[in-house]
Amino acid sequence: MGYWVIKKEEYLKELMQENALWQAVLGQIELSVSRGNYMTWFKNTQLIKNKDGVVVVGVPNVFVKNQLERKFNDLISQTLSSNGIKAERIEYKIHTGIPPQVKLDDVVLKNPGQGAQEAAKPTRSADSMHPVYRLGLNERYTFENFIVGSSNELAYAACQAIVKKPGDKYNPLFIYGGVGVGKTHLIQAVGNAVMAAKPNARVVYTSSEQFLREFIDALRKKTTTDFAKFHRGADVWIVDDVQFLAGKEKVQEEFFHTFNNLYQVNKQIIMSSDKPAKDIPTLEERLRSRFSQGMTIDMQTPDFETRCAILHAKAMSQDIDLPQETAEFLAGRTQSNVRELEGSLNQVLAYCEVHSAQPTIQVVTAMYETRRSRPKHLSSRHIIERTARHFHISIEEILGPKRDKDIVVPRQVAMYMLRSELHLSFPKIAHELGRKDHTTAIHSIGKIEKELSYETPIKQHVIELREGLYA
Ligand code: ADP
Ligand code: MG
Repeated sequence: MGYWVIKKEEYLKELMQENALWQAVLGQIELSVSRGNYMTWFKNTQLIKNKDGVVVVGVPNVFVKNQLERKFNDLISQTLSSNGIKAERIEYKIHTGIPPQVKLDDVVLKNPGQGAQEAAKPTRSADSMHPVYRLGLNERYTFENFIVGSSNELAYAACQAIVKKPGDKYNPLFIYGGVGVGKTHLIQAVGNAVMAAKPNARVVYTSSEQFLREFIDALRKKTTTDFAKFHRGADVWIVDDVQFLAGKEKVQEEFFHTFNNLYQVNKQIIMSSDKPAKDIPTLEERLRSRFSQGMTIDMQTPDFETRCAILHAKAMSQDIDLPQETAEFLAGRTQSNVRELEGSLNQVLAYCEVHSAQPTIQVVTAMYETRRSRPKHLSSRHIIERTARHFHISIEEILGPKRDKDIVVPRQVAMYMLRSELHLSFPKIAHELGRKDHTTAIHSIGKIEKELSYETPIKQHVIELREGLYA
């Protein structure tokens, strides 16, 4: 990474004094709750204010806030009191920064090779263009429901800084990391936060695949001028999964021009990729150098504690209080990918729903035991057949090429079932359903897993199918 971080000593000293007291309180709390609880709910908190009987505790996200309010308020109040602070009221506030050791706004960031950029005036206002900006943003992805840990705190901090001042310090921002580490979530959160702060902002979120698709479409319809205008009119231009530009020369050229246009007028550019720019094969050199012009951040798989916190958060968003042991069990089993982690939680919750049980560690271990000794008849073929029958379509249709919605959905459900019941690999699942490309399986399964977070008809189908399989 081409940047240095220099911490301001003074700033740190001040913070330490303010928080010395809070550290004492935390030290005491650590002794009275389990380690898991401490790590999940207390570790990243800080004292923001202590004045006139009001204590304000800074917390990293809404889930910690809820949990501290609901479960630990008395404990905190008592511990404060035994440290000489009589709090009449304790407030929990989500602090938009993150723990002081990595708060980027308070550190000096230098980027070698990036000269001062004079802002060129945009030549025309883009307001007159049809403003379907905000298209592509999913409101589900927010900073508030993003759990911060050491694996993603830099990316998180940079994204937050961008919301405060788009087009300023971290431009372009290039985030890379493996599948399911939270790249899309985070860059979408930027878009949503910018829109919340400035409803008129022109935020474009697109994937490079969509960019390509629409570009080809525009070529065909001879509307490339509109296409270019739309993208070049963005205030914040977010492009997900730029690795898919590899090898596509014509679209790389369009991308390059859009990029330059936006960059010249200091518009914010954010890109994600599953690998660093230098490792994307057949990416034009000029794009490669553009990508690494600003800030490049590597997002890692969340560590164990963060995975536990994510599980708690996801469960809580469905009003379920996940026991710490269950969270630890699941976080231990799924190590690489947050999407899979969510998937395993959803399986547990679906199982509990079917069996009217609570997700205690006993229930969950029993569930995994049953899985291991699954009935012999559960083969891929059997699952695919059952799924087709359940949705009243034929086996030819589910395995065939048709892309009608009433066939695509059952196909996606079948892929999900192969994953959840037989734990098949993505390529194997794609193969079983007659697909060549395993990313189809990843997308399909991800889509169904998302549906399972809500009370959707699909969730009901999955529950019924699963009941049928094990009946
Ligand atoms: P990527 O784009 O890196 O493949 P996503 O952003 O799609 O990953 O994340 C996969 C899933 O995991 C999403 O549902 C996302 O909300 C969730 N997720 C990932 N990281 C976090 C996190 N730190 N906190 C909460 N949810 C997360
Ligand atoms: Mg993504």
